[in-house]
Amino acid sequence: MRTTALEILKTVYGYDAFRGPQARIVEHVIGGNNAFVLMPTGGGKSLCYQIPAIVRPGMGLVVSPLLALMADQVAALRQAGVKAAALNSDLAGEERHALWRNVRAGNLDLLYLAPETLLRPDVLELLDGVRLSLIAIDEAHCLSQWGHDFRPSYRQLDAVVTRFGGTPRMALTATADEPTRAEILSHLDIAEADAFVAGFDRPNIRYAIEEKDNPRAQLKDFLKRHEGESGIVYCLSKRKTEETAAWLRDQGYDALAYHAGMDRAAREANQARFRHGEAVVMIATIAFGMGIDKPDVRFVAHVDLPGSIEAYYQETGRAGRDGMPSDTLMLYGSEDIALRSRFIEESDAPDHRKRMERQKLDALLGLAETAGCRRQALLSYFGDHSEPCGNCDTCAEPPRLFDGTIAAQKALSCIYRTGERFGQAYVVDVLLGVENDRIAQFGHNRISTFGIGTEHDNRAWRAILRQLIALRLVEVDLAGHGGLSIAPAGRDFLRDRPTLMLRVPAAARARRGKVARGAVQSSVAAADRDLFQALRQKRLEMARTQNVPPYVIFHDRTLIELASAKPSSRAEMASVPGVGEAKLDRYGPAFLAVIAEYA
Ligand code: ADP
Ligand code: ZN
Repeated sequence: MRTTALEILKTVYGYDAFRGPQARIVEHVIGGNNAFVLMPTGGGKSLCYQIPAIVRPGMGLVVSPLLALMADQVAALRQAGVKAAALNSDLAGEERHALWRNVRAGNLDLLYLAPETLLRPDVLELLDGVRLSLIAIDEAHCLSQWGHDFRPSYRQLDAVVTRFGGTPRMALTATADEPTRAEILSHLDIAEADAFVAGFDRPNIRYAIEEKDNPRAQLKDFLKRHEGESGIVYCLSKRKTEETAAWLRDQGYDALAYHAGMDRAAREANQARFRHGEAVVMIATIAFGMGIDKPDVRFVAHVDLPGSIEAYYQETGRAGRDGMPSDTLMLYGSEDIALRSRFIEESDAPDHRKRMERQKLDALLGLAETAGCRRQALLSYFGDHSEPCGNCDTCAEPPRLFDGTIAAQKALSCIYRTGERFGQAYVVDVLLGVENDRIAQFGHNRISTFGIGTEHDNRAWRAILRQLIALRLVEVDLAGHGGLSIAPAGRDFLRDRPTLMLRVPAAARARRGKVARGAVQSSVAAADRDLFQALRQKRLEMARTQNVPPYVIFHDRTLIELASAKPSSRAEMASVPGVGEAKLDRYGPAFLAVIAEYA
């Protein structure tokens, strides 16, 4: 059995070996067992149900939450020569009949459908007469009532798995947390012994977190490193996505906005352009999420603080599904912390929920302020382990720490002496001894803390205050005026005066100035870059004529391999990863011709 699965991996997908737990899962399901698969994005979940569905007799059902996702998967499978189709409500009468004729004739290996479609009585009845190889429930966390992606119809899928009780069922997700996992297992009646859990690490993703200094300049520097590549920029508000997209278009980027306030057609149009394009920057709120199956998202930037470590992990996780180097950047400042705190306090959630949300925010701030490896901090949050990774900002350039005890005392006492009601800018001015009308009007140029902080500059003081807020020594007024006050932990600190180590703020824009090449381009040898671009161009042409996203033809990784190996025959091309037999027949000649021009 194993060889059959391996043969399919090679001939259909063009890959030489299974990755991580894939081989065990595939074998397990081919053997007729259920499986729960928890793998990070890009881990290769799809093969885990596709290959068993091809090997086992009968047709596999794949439940997927979004039409766009299904369409892409089906397009990619067909390109590889797999008999796959999607059953959706848009199908016109004749198409629908033809599809069912195919199903009954046993002509399909995989049928994708939304849960709402599967639950329809007429569909269930038709399926009663069909031999099923397995039922795979993708994005299975959508059945969790506590998660962000809850879909009521997902919840009713337990009835379907009972109805087809003898058919192996699979639940697949990338959502990490323990309660969700337990809920999926019990709801779909999958045994603990059938659970396969891969580690959470995404080694090809680089993590970087910077304090907000000049966010637009910081974003621009980041994007400059990714010319010609696609990526996502997450913002907190709808308005900000629109403004940022407009600004980036002025800068010459192909930038699109995406948020829940846009009408559905506009949203779908932008999503389609993102999927089909080669260098599109999507400026989005978190509404842009689950449907992103694009494997070549090369970067994800957060210009506002995300909601939690889970959210940060999921959102950054949309980069680099194809395993190629990908880059992330998160920016955050004191205002972000204040705003996030306000969201929590002003929500009408019960107290225990608020407490949990506060802890989650603190954990995220801990990640942002850590002087250690980001990946280590991130993975340890999920109970996973990593050595210092060498692929994050703090590994590349460990932040310097200084004894901030005195600075913290000065800042706290300045907040106290000015009455615990002024914002950050004002407090910093008093510390620096700035003479201005407002300070004079309140008489704060005559208090003992006026001008006691001249050993640090304005920027350094802002960084110190931000860290005191993140450490919960200082509170930000939640009514929104941004007034600083001393938190209970700050009072303890003033009393006990323990040593407090703080980060030295990164020198302004020091390590940014230089423009590096995009992550993928830099993995192409200089001599092969023109060929790589020509291959990309060919891929884009062929994608346009078929109206499919370029990556369903070949992934970037395959193009890079082609550019470096420069095969001159069909047989040589067949050994390049990602080139299966169907694609060799269909695209071999065209791509070999391009390569011949450069050889
Ligand atoms: P997930 O659904 O877990 O996010 P996918 O199934 O989309 O991940 O796979 C991610 C990428 O990895 C795809 O480009 C896929 O073709 C590739 N991939 C999966 N399995 C293998 C493998 N065994 N060898 C090489 N590439 C693989
Ligand atoms: Zn690291």
